[in-house]
Amino acid sequence: MDKKSLNINSKNNLSNRRNFKNIVFIILVILFGLTLFASSKQSTSNIKTIPITQVITAANEGKYKSITVKNNSNEIDITPKGANKVTLKSYTDPNTSLKTLGVNYSKVQINYSPQSNSTSTWLSIAESILPVIIIAAILFFILKSAQGQGNQALSFGKSRARLYGNEKDKIIFKDIAGSAEAKQDLEEVVEFLKFPKKFASLGAKIPKGVLLIGPPGTGKTMLARATAGEANVPFFSISGSEFVEMFVGVGASRVRDLFAKAKKNAPCIIFVDEIDAVGRKRGSGMGGGHDEREQTLNQILVEMDGFEQGQNVIVLAATNRADVLDPALLRPGRFDRRVGITLPDRKDREAILKIHFQKKPLAKDVDLDALAAKTAGFSGADLANVANESAIIAARNSHHEISQQDVTDAFERVAIGPERKNKIMNESDKATTAYHEAGHALVGHVLPDSDPVHKVTIIPRGGTGGVTWFIPPEDRAYSSLIQFKDVLARGLGGRIAEEIVLGPDRITTGAGSDLQGASELARDMVVNQGMGTKLRDQVFKVDDGMMIDRLVHEREYSDATAKVIDEEIESLINEAATRARIVIKANLSYLDKLKDALIEKETIDSAEVARILDGAKLPKAAMLY
Ligand code: ADP
Ligand code: MG
Ligand code: ZN
Repeated sequence: MDKKSLNINSKNNLSNRRNFKNIVFIILVILFGLTLFASSKQSTSNIKTIPITQVITAANEGKYKSITVKNNSNEIDITPKGANKVTLKSYTDPNTSLKTLGVNYSKVQINYSPQSNSTSTWLSIAESILPVIIIAAILFFILKSAQGQGNQALSFGKSRARLYGNEKDKIIFKDIAGSAEAKQDLEEVVEFLKFPKKFASLGAKIPKGVLLIGPPGTGKTMLARATAGEANVPFFSISGSEFVEMFVGVGASRVRDLFAKAKKNAPCIIFVDEIDAVGRKRGSGMGGGHDEREQTLNQILVEMDGFEQGQNVIVLAATNRADVLDPALLRPGRFDRRVGITLPDRKDREAILKIHFQKKPLAKDVDLDALAAKTAGFSGADLANVANESAIIAARNSHHEISQQDVTDAFERVAIGPERKNKIMNESDKATTAYHEAGHALVGHVLPDSDPVHKVTIIPRGGTGGVTWFIPPEDRAYSSLIQFKDVLARGLGGRIAEEIVLGPDRITTGAGSDLQGASELARDMVVNQGMGTKLRDQVFKVDDGMMIDRLVHEREYSDATAKVIDEEIESLINEAATRARIVIKANLSYLDKLKDALIEKETIDSAEVARILDGAKLPKAAMLY
């Protein structure tokens, strides 16, 4: 969304021209219509043709004011009495006068009109030619625009880079909250672009490529644009996926074209967004390793090597998958500088929220600090989304300013999807959901290393039956094995509550996403975090980085190890289920109380959960330490 709005300025020029064309086209069509209308009006609707015998009779009866005889034409125009223009016409042999035909010249005025005749000939010629001209012009325009498209088809090899620069609403670092370190690193790039001589005089080589690495939505694209904005240089932006076309060689020629354009506009910045689309490790993909991506990547490397010192074009690239990039991209002289961008911490989240709420009318009681506190893990884009949703919700509620409730609703909507209040549940589904959610909440509440319950609801939200929501009280850099185990146990708490209350054969599909989440977490613990029992402190790489469509999975471990991994995952899940079962069985009365409260109120917040579950106990058997 934002990207689009940023693009508008650069496209202005083009779209103006296109608008102009459209207007000319519309005017032509209107003219054409008018001509048709006018000529049809003259020839058919207004002037009636009558037989010459009738003319003679009527003329002799004195019904006509005048008759105009045209030279060299067999047409005569008649103006009846009481009318002030020609309304009738007739045809007669031009060599025979009206007198000869029996018209009494004293009863009617006879005019001869050699001139008017000639002008009317011209007029009629114009009348018949004008539509042709206009049609020709319309055809010409249609052909021309079709040709334009044809040109586009022929210009595949041209880069589609968009040029930004010197725009009124260009972005500078001040518009980006947080990311202090990234900005600091990029500040250097700004210096290189602004004062190249300063560095050259000391023999320093200016870096050619800077790689921005960070999760999606953390402002990489924004930072790149702001760097150009700060340095006040043109900014060529292209996305890695745009290089990848169906024709081999197109990507490479686009790269060539892009770099040629950039060199002409130096000093400037080339920005390759999502470079992982072309920059993945080479040589092990399908198609013998000589696929399109590889050629494109090679061309990028060739172009970057080809920069001469003092050329002053800096290539910025962004990715959220630095691990899959080809090492050749990261060599000195290429993208040897890396700028890491992380998810914002609490302080930065507040700053980002302030930026995005800046132009929106906020009620005095809105607490952005509290919102920042509970949005751990949100990216800048998510926070921008919360701000926007707040405004939308406030508008839909016809509020004059955004209230705390609007902000809370927006936050929940972004975090777990919109409420589906009008999805009606029958009583038994409602009870099952209430037990299920109460199970999550109870286990999470009792286990000591779980985050506290933030909210429980049995109102369907974004695809789920209900939600039990845990929010960490503060940002944390690391998670421990014990915390993960409590997350696994509370995640299974819903299914186990169903099993205990309804019976093992009556468990429902409501636990589907819980189980999937638990399996994924358990696998991550074993494979990536070295948290297995037998496989402690080892990681097992599955490389899915070769192909964009992930057809190839390469694993760097044996089948025997794969089997042990599966066993490790199974035992983690079993342990979690057992702990959840122990906790719920020991606190059945609390489970019931929470279920009743949920059926009655549908949504319960953290304070009330704590009140209802006050006194629930942690059995020794469920303890890990
Ligand atoms: P990325 O390229 O890393 O995926 P973008 O640069 O496209 O992220 O950011 C998406 C949107 O998120 C931006 O348009 C902006 O509205 C918001 N955003 C992200 N990070 C920040 C930030 N640090 N400060 C202000 N807004 C931000
Ligand atoms: Mg981006
Ligand atoms: Zn659940």
